[in-house]
Amino acid sequence: METPGSQTSLHRANLERVVRAVRMAGSLTQAEIARSTGLSAATVSNIVRELKEGGTVEVTPTSAGGRRARSVSLSGDAGIVIGVDFGHTHLRVVVGNLAHQVLAEEAEPLDVDASSAQGFGRAEQLVRQLIETTGISVDKVIGVGLGVPGPIDVESGTLGSTSILPGWTGINPSKELAGRLGVPVYVDNDANLGALGELVWGSGRGVKDLAYIKVASGVGAGLVIDGRIYRGPGGTAGEIGHITLDESGPVCRCGNRGCLETFTAARYVLPLLQPSHGPDLTMERVVQLAREGDPGCRRVIGDVGRHIGSGVANLCNLLNPSRVILGGSLAEAGELVLAPIRDSVSRYAIPSAARQLSVLPGALGGRAEVLGALALVLSEMGDSTLLGSALPKATSAFT
Ligand SMILES: [Zn+2]
Repeated sequence: METPGSQTSLHRANLERVVRAVRMAGSLTQAEIARSTGLSAATVSNIVRELKEGGTVEVTPTSAGGRRARSVSLSGDAGIVIGVDFGHTHLRVVVGNLAHQVLAEEAEPLDVDASSAQGFGRAEQLVRQLIETTGISVDKVIGVGLGVPGPIDVESGTLGSTSILPGWTGINPSKELAGRLGVPVYVDNDANLGALGELVWGSGRGVKDLAYIKVASGVGAGLVIDGRIYRGPGGTAGEIGHITLDESGPVCRCGNRGCLETFTAARYVLPLLQPSHGPDLTMERVVQLAREGDPGCRRVIGDVGRHIGSGVANLCNLLNPSRVILGGSLAEAGELVLAPIRDSVSRYAIPSAARQLSVLPGALGGRAEVLGALALVLSEMGDSTLLGSALPKATSAFT
């Protein structure tokens, strides 16, 4: 047992700070490590040497601002991490290493809503199959990040809302998959994972505070505050879809009236266009038609943007993020949706909050959530496996 405040525990804490900084960033120069950990250059240099000798990190020559520098990343063969993303109609699996390299990836259509057992069965098969293609031993798996398209109840670890995934009532997704694969599984909802994915690999790189807005069958936001996902004690933070925009508006599935969702989600928006554009319209098709110049679709996408912007303005006033990133297929409408979002933000947010904000499309498209699931493992795994003491203790971020 180490005494708190002793030289040994201080040294251990410094090792962990360096490993955590590199773990989330992928690779950093020693100067960047010093900046992000607050440790002195000499301490960082000593710690990096020690970690390199122990095989935890790799050091490669690079250049920073025209000067020679040393780039530090976690050792690629120190372990592998896996991301699994269940959408309503698809399954994606990614196998990556601790140096942030994707080693294998697969996506397939799957009616995830219909049966959770079928979904988990297929996920297990695909994970095992992909690990085999990398030629790396299963023993090297540190953990699995799992994305589900609905809020997770923090207390029970089950899906909180039964209205989104009726075939999943009472299922504890992380326990279910951990039981099948025999490794720790960390679970989160798709909006939080999209936020993490964009933070680590996409449009959110380099900032510590962002909101990722996902408009699909519902509307959710993943919030990153000071580099970490903010979930709130009940795990429901970021339910931006249920901000009231119009008290006498349509009744929402939450029971309130005129929520943001009732002006932006597909089931409310598509009926506006179906009389003129036919009954088989999808949001993807509306985005495509808008890009081709269809005036009705442009109008609807613009209105959706203005309404999202009202919600984003509230978010800015409360949290003052540096970036808001629009994910999902709506982001493919580009400026047709982003310009109206910015317009509403400049109208409704206080000027000081709006000035510091950039509104960007996601850079990762449909891969944001599954890459976020990888990032979730990197964020939650702890450093004990890498620093060679006790095994990771948590089997889930929520239990
Ligand atoms: Zn609502």
